Amino acid sequence: MTQKDAVRVRFAPSPTGRFHIGGARTALYNYLLARQTGGKFILRLEDTDRKRFNPASEKEFIDSLHWLGLQWDEGPDIGGPYRPYRQSERRQIYQQHINELIRNDHAYYCFCTPDRLAEVRNEQKNRKEDSHYDGLCRSLSLAEAQARIDSGESYVVRFKTPKEGVTTCYDQMRGEIRVENRTLDDYILLKSNGLPVYHLAAIVDDYLMGITHVFRGSEWLPTFPLHTQIYQAFGWQQPLWMHLSLFLNPTGKGKLSKRQSEGNNIKAVYTLDLKELGFLPEAVNNWIALMGWSYDDHTEFFTLPDLVENFSIEKLNPSPAAVNFTKLDHFNKLHIRSLAQDDLARRLVPVFQQAGLDVSLEKLIDLMPILQERIRTLDEAVEIAGFFFRDWVQPSPEDLIGKNMDQPGSLKTLQAAIEKISSMQSFNLELVEAQLRESADSLGLKAGQFFGILRMAVTGQTVSPPLIESMEIIGFEEVLRRLQKSAEILANSFEL
Ligand code: GLU
Repeated sequence: MTQKDAVRVRFAPSPTGRFHIGGARTALYNYLLARQTGGKFILRLEDTDRKRFNPASEKEFIDSLHWLGLQWDEGPDIGGPYRPYRQSERRQIYQQHINELIRNDHAYYCFCTPDRLAEVRNEQKNRKEDSHYDGLCRSLSLAEAQARIDSGESYVVRFKTPKEGVTTCYDQMRGEIRVENRTLDDYILLKSNGLPVYHLAAIVDDYLMGITHVFRGSEWLPTFPLHTQIYQAFGWQQPLWMHLSLFLNPTGKGKLSKRQSEGNNIKAVYTLDLKELGFLPEAVNNWIALMGWSYDDHTEFFTLPDLVENFSIEKLNPSPAAVNFTKLDHFNKLHIRSLAQDDLARRLVPVFQQAGLDVSLEKLIDLMPILQERIRTLDEAVEIAGFFFRDWVQPSPEDLIGKNMDQPGSLKTLQAAIEKISSMQSFNLELVEAQLRESADSLGLKAGQFFGILRMAVTGQTVSPPLIESMEIIGFEEVLRRLQKSAEILANSFEL
């Protein structure tokens, strides 16, 4: 099959933990290949580990995929021709396939107790051997095994790994991987609770669901020979396998851990935490797409449709890559700038609301010309522009004192500004600025001193978007109210 044929791919998370950016990348690559080829993207929940199953995790996976905009075509919530898409509802199917392997002598019942297995492991340790199942039950006849099952003995089913020869696996990115069969263990396929493990369930499902390409983490490389052997035991054709590169800590040393710090910026490695930190899904997709894939050696900005168009499995790179959060900031800034003003404003509404500010979409749209270029994350918008929506910005008397100035001088400055603005007939921005500069001149102040005091009085901040434009958006009546309140604060502190 060439890449342009319609693929069937799946993202198959185990809902046991949080949704890591590594998982997001796997989902993204699946999505891109499906959309590019007009194929199908399937969501399958691998929830056979009932001890570790966590409904909150399942919800987080689904919410994260929705947030990233990676909609699937078949899945547990929307159904599809190969349903059910939840492994815990497919027990019967696995049982039938386990029976087939046993019938064909590719698997066997094993009755070894945990105590015996622990003993075997201990002896192997003493002999400095790698721990592996010693094969005691491998030669039990089916009749013997059946009798023990009938008498109520607990059992698992193990794969009967060939002990001679070599297994050759093929990974699209890594080429051929050859492993001596004598180094392989007889893995458990069916646990004593009757549920299959990943190795069996994923393979049966991939086959039955017609999966053509498998993107998965490189943590599955050690058991890749087992998977190849299971395919061979069933006599099925394997999909095209791609074991994606590992994510390393920002320092480039060690596997990425849960929370990373880089400089003073603490960044999260969970997709929904990135949402909370004010990153756009577009930026996250762009960032993770390039952790293991590249278009060429310089093009970096990609929207999701760009990625759909340009993604190719030939350009995947198996080398581990250090996660670079500075790059994420960079992409976020670029994607924020590339949004339409009303789109960005709409996304900012909930961010301001969460900060307890009563915003209107209209006013946020008005702010876009002075805000859009200034923010790296959505959250920063609240830091920079929260003052537009606050009743009162609460500068302290000390903050209201201009550079190299005293309280009386700063108060006089505020009063002069109040007088000037009150007397204005028109609020043409250039005129306002010119007139305020005149006031500064007549007080013998530098523009920086004069506008610094005004900025603090109106915004409560030492840094803000352009002051005169901001004043226009706030409205001159409100500006006067803030100036007057600030003047009162200074006057009162002066009297004390
Ligand atoms: N459930 C497996 C995991 O979460 C899926 C691996 C695969 O894609 O085959 O790692």
